[in-house]
Amino acid sequence: MTDSPAPVRPDRRAELAAGLARVRSRIADACAVAGRDRSEITMIAVTKTYPAGDVVALAGLGVTDVGENRDQEASAKAAEVAAAGVRPRWHFIGQLQRNKARSVVRYADAVHSVDSARLARALDGASATARDRPLDVLVQVSIDGDPARGGALPDAADPDAGLGPVAEAVAGAAGLRLAGLMAVAPLGWEPERAFARLAEVAAGFRADHPHAGALSAGMSGDLEIAIRYGATHVRVGSALLGMRSTLR
Ligand SMILES: *Cc1c(COP(=O)(O)O)cnc(C)c1O
Repeated sequence: MTDSPAPVRPDRRAELAAGLARVRSRIADACAVAGRDRSEITMIAVTKTYPAGDVVALAGLGVTDVGENRDQEASAKAAEVAAAGVRPRWHFIGQLQRNKARSVVRYADAVHSVDSARLARALDGASATARDRPLDVLVQVSIDGDPARGGALPDAADPDAGLGPVAEAVAGAAGLRLAGLMAVAPLGWEPERAFARLAEVAAGFRADHPHAGALSAGMSGDLEIAIRYGATHVRVGSALLGMRSTLR
């Protein structure tokens, strides 16, 4: 049995409430500027490096969606949060090794970082045995084409790592539901240029997959620009929870 986390102290709760109010108003302002409805945007609180108590406190403040990027940390945290009787939607947003698929499908509601047909097949196989409903999958797109940073390549026909073939592998898997695309603005790129490019890729993708409309883009530093270019999910860590002491 996993113990539920101790409640956060009142000063931490106040800090989280203030961060949440700031981020919510940034999202509302960005929607107003972009002429979009606020209900089109889901904010994912990226809680990596922060304890389960923070997740429980955020849920108490109305946060419904939580993101993590490492399986070991996420699986332990999800168990602690569940022990407190709290069930947010868990989004796995980090690079994922195939041998972690079995673990991730047990707690994750969505995986945003699928960038190969092999990984899709591993998640599908794991999903079939561990879940009673399909796992939502967003295909991660590489905006700059740098294979080291992860992401399927939009213009490549590579049967394992081209965007088209990866999306087909997800769409054809009974244990997965193709939900949309995810991207991170590459280091050294203006977010404006990165998200404009992503919007082009997303438009082509939706022509082939009209029911996969999710677009996960934008973080603490660039969420307004991502919303302007069509993001439906923004992944917000430091603006909500504070600066992390480690670079991830
Ligand atoms: C850490 C992380 C985020 C959140 O970053 P912040 O700048 O702290 O908002 C978003 N997306 C991914 C993939 C991450 O790893």
